[in-house]
Amino acid sequence: MSWQQRISHELAQRRRDDAYRTRQANDGGNGRWLTQGERRYLNFSSNDYLGLSRDAGVIAAWRQGARRYGAGSGGSGHVTGYSVAHAALEQALADWLGYPRALLFISGYAANQALVTALTRAGDRILADKLSHASLIEAATLSPAVLRRFVHNQPSALETLLAKPDDGGETLVVTEGVFSMDGDSAPLAELQRLSRAAGAWLMVDDAHGIGVCGEQGRGSCWRQGVRPDLLVVTFGKAFGVSGAAVLCEQPTAEYLLQFARHLIYSTAMPAAQACALSAALTRIRQGDDLRAALQRNIRQLRAGLRALPWRLTDSDSAIQPLIVGDNGRALELAQRLRAAGMWVSAMRPPTVPPGSARLRITLTAAHQPEDIDRLLEVLRHAD
Ligand SMILES: *Cc1c(COP(=O)(O)O)cnc(C)c1O
Repeated sequence: MSWQQRISHELAQRRRDDAYRTRQANDGGNGRWLTQGERRYLNFSSNDYLGLSRDAGVIAAWRQGARRYGAGSGGSGHVTGYSVAHAALEQALADWLGYPRALLFISGYAANQALVTALTRAGDRILADKLSHASLIEAATLSPAVLRRFVHNQPSALETLLAKPDDGGETLVVTEGVFSMDGDSAPLAELQRLSRAAGAWLMVDDAHGIGVCGEQGRGSCWRQGVRPDLLVVTFGKAFGVSGAAVLCEQPTAEYLLQFARHLIYSTAMPAAQACALSAALTRIRQGDDLRAALQRNIRQLRAGLRALPWRLTDSDSAIQPLIVGDNGRALELAQRLRAAGMWVSAMRPPTVPPGSARLRITLTAAHQPEDIDRLLEVLRHAD
């Protein structure tokens, strides 16, 4: 088979599975509305949960940062790319979340890859929740450690895996705080207890909890009174920007600076972005108003969805999926919503388990009550 044949074969298979992915260019950002050419949609697909991508303070901080530091960082952090803006953001994140150190990464994807691949060796075990994000599973697959997955949100399943004989290596337990496709929360206290008892480390990726829940928006771990050995927070969701940080103890941070290739062989995030993120952090800490608005929207949507035929997940987060099952049906519903002026993404395997295609509705603090009423009205007549 030639390269060309391989590629056209794979593309044809994707189409047959109703799993073909396309992109649409928007023009005007991701706010309450999504604009594409002449059309405007109510946006129920954004991860900008607090609306901070459009926050005047965040934008002004980015501008000022660019004037002072220029557009780009000029190098890896180990060469000349690390600035006082990066250092200030790392310190502020560490103080906020109660860790000795925070290290910035260019994305959550990179942070997860770096952590898992730099820490683990042959003979180690990674025990990950079955629904962990692709970036975590991929990192574990690329690492020399053995990957085992436990039944979603079932500590007893983790306990069984922990009890199995290991090869004398270390064990890393991996979960998300709030799961990206279901919106439900991990039982972190129980996972922490089991991990500690077994001498394993717990790593929590709180991409969807940080900023949104917990006192001052400190996230899922804070809310559940848990302090994982490794905490990953990302800035592409509630922070409204992009990037990520790993929170950890001092020696772990030093170890990552020596061995995490994503820090060494990759250009640091622009200093101006670090300035914007510091402004977003300040807004998040004082963001009870935004979190209350988001919670109001979540309550309104769930109350309305209960009257509809689809299965809801056990989610009190901004992520409220409607599990439809069939790929074609999920696409059809998304199309119908689009025709009615609402943008909701259909999520299909392999992003979600086979047979659980869904509409992934996300809410933000920017939605108004009438937006949610409109969405519910269309769904009510969609069956
Ligand atoms: C979005 C997401 C990531 C990836 O973060 P990026 O900064 O977008 O690369 C990692 N983990 C989870 C759970 C996510 O939802």
